[in-house]
Amino acid sequence: MRLPLFLLLAVTSLGAVAQDDAAPRTALVIHGGAGVIERESLDAEAERGIRAALDAALDAGHAVLASGGSALDAVEAAVVVLEEEPRFNAGKGAVFNAEGRHELDASIMFSQDRKAGAVASVTTVRSPIRLARRVMEQSPHVMLMGEGAERFADGHPDLERVPNEWFDTDARREQLERARQREAGGRQADAGGTGAQYFGTVGAVALDAQGRIAAATSTGGMTNKRWGRVGDSPIIGAGTWADGNCGVSATGWGEFFIRNAVAHDICARMAYRGDSLADAAGEVVMEVIPAHGGDGGVIALDGEGNIALPFNTPGMYRGWVRPDGSRGTAIFGDE
Ligand code: ASP
Repeated sequence: MRLPLFLLLAVTSLGAVAQDDAAPRTALVIHGGAGVIERESLDAEAERGIRAALDAALDAGHAVLASGGSALDAVEAAVVVLEEEPRFNAGKGAVFNAEGRHELDASIMFSQDRKAGAVASVTTVRSPIRLARRVMEQSPHVMLMGEGAERFADGHPDLERVPNEWFDTDARREQLERARQREAGGRQADAGGTGAQYFGTVGAVALDAQGRIAAATSTGGMTNKRWGRVGDSPIIGAGTWADGNCGVSATGWGEFFIRNAVAHDICARMAYRGDSLADAAGEVVMEVIPAHGGDGGVIALDGEGNIALPFNTPGMYRGWVRPDGSRGTAIFGDE
């Protein structure tokens, strides 16, 4: 059948409009931790290294999204890059606990079927975020900890294992020494009260072309932590959350993020109260957490691809790719 030209044009342009409307709106946000990051104490080389690592993580995550991959694969890809970078407090470069060892925490959540997986206090798994995803997909549980998590990892020989010392770095050892000295000097160093105790936790949140959201967080926790201390990062609803319309990965003084169910609270404010992402994330980070004496920040995005990256500390390592393809990295508040 031959269509009259005007009809053909109309149909073609309608098709074009429909295609534009349906253009995939993907987005990605990442963080490398919030804390007392002073401009003066960050030399040019360190800053370049950090920004390059953030960029590499954005590249890894965005490549997945751009090729039609899932938000889940995107956040895992981005977080693995950050875990491997010794400047961040996750995987290689994780902080030392009070015994001079590393105990790593991670969690991941996917809006599709609201699946989640988490590990706490793991000691020999090179990529805790990969292990968290295995817990989510290949165990009937959400969270495994310590020895049990290590035993579960034994059943997944393709997940690389390393001796605990593999996570060591000189910078983190010095940080532990300083914390011990402060403690010996009578100051409460292990509780994190100085803020300088932490930064460098990593995380990612992604929106894929099918409108699904995933969030992931990985950390060594807080320097000089003891007694098997576990922070917010592996706790679904505190450090990580992803539902049908909102995803969050947090970083900061974990005890306050747990007590305020930060990641879930942000998304619940949108769902129950109709808050915008910016209002929900901004209010929780800038008002609720400080009102209780805590500090830190979050990266968040919603189903429209809006992003919010609020923090109440001097700095937060962060990066983003918006639905329009614009991207960037930043460290301090005035960028
Ligand atoms: N939230 C992490 C914890 O408390 C630390 C961090 O974000 O730097 O374990």
